[in-house]
Amino acid sequence: MKRVLILGGTAEARALAAELIADPGVHVVSSLAGRVSKPRLPVGEVRQGGFGGAAGLEAFLAGEKIDAMVDATHPFAARMTASAAEAAARSGVPLLVLRRPGWQEGPGDSWQRVASLHEAAARLRAPMRVFLTTGRRSLPVFTGLPGVWLLARSVDPPEPPVPDDVHVLLDRGPYTVDGELALIREHRLDVLVTKDSGGRLTAAKLVAARELGLPVIMVNRPPLPPGVRLVDTVAAAAAWAQE
Ligand code: NAP
Repeated sequence: MKRVLILGGTAEARALAAELIADPGVHVVSSLAGRVSKPRLPVGEVRQGGFGGAAGLEAFLAGEKIDAMVDATHPFAARMTASAAEAAARSGVPLLVLRRPGWQEGPGDSWQRVASLHEAAARLRAPMRVFLTTGRRSLPVFTGLPGVWLLARSVDPPEPPVPDDVHVLLDRGPYTVDGELALIREHRLDVLVTKDSGGRLTAAKLVAARELGLPVIMVNRPPLPPGVRLVDTVAAAAAWAQE
């Protein structure tokens, strides 16, 4: 039986596990970082926690006799992706990267694309009320800017202390356009700062921003390691793993 490791933490990783588990010739092991308190679990075997860098992952691949690995982590999980590429190169275990497509600016949108969270923070001008959806660990990059108030939405709470000019909203997608419109109006938000995560589960904020003429600061994805094989659909990843 072919043993496939899925590096997960995304809806696509869960969908891939569900698809592969239906194949009697494939045994799937899904891996989660173990960062969020109540993760959505994929079907099948799941392990949680870091591997200990590329060397740790290489040892895991050997110990678990993994035949193929799909990196279906979030597009901003750059360290895990770098480790996967390194471990694959050292071990010879084939690696495929599954990334959902990024979001595209359309008519009526007003986006500024930036290369990093720090560049996004540098674009903020006081006085400004900011809708921040870049993740709880990025909060320190945006705090302490005079005249900048933040509505920071995240799945789990950020590390304390949280400054007075930050309102934390704990929530997890999927979100609706009506809900996002109400949130933007209620908090009189001036700008949305987000990462180019892509996908439909969290795209409603972009539709709401368009409808309200709200500018968006969009942090671009980090580049992939050179030479990795990339697909953007679960079906393509499943076909590759089954081959
Ligand atoms: P990261 O910065 O690339 O990873 C940091 C470390 O966490 C890695 O070096 C690895 O530890 C461990 N790790 C990450 N993903 C793992 C996985 N699937 N299985 C086992 N260990 C993993 O990643 P991150 O941005 O902290 O994201 C962590 C997880 O959350 C990812 O699995 C990702 O898919 C998911 N996620 C991330 C975001 C985001 O915005 N970054 C959003 C939604 C979901 P070792 O070096 O010890 O192996």
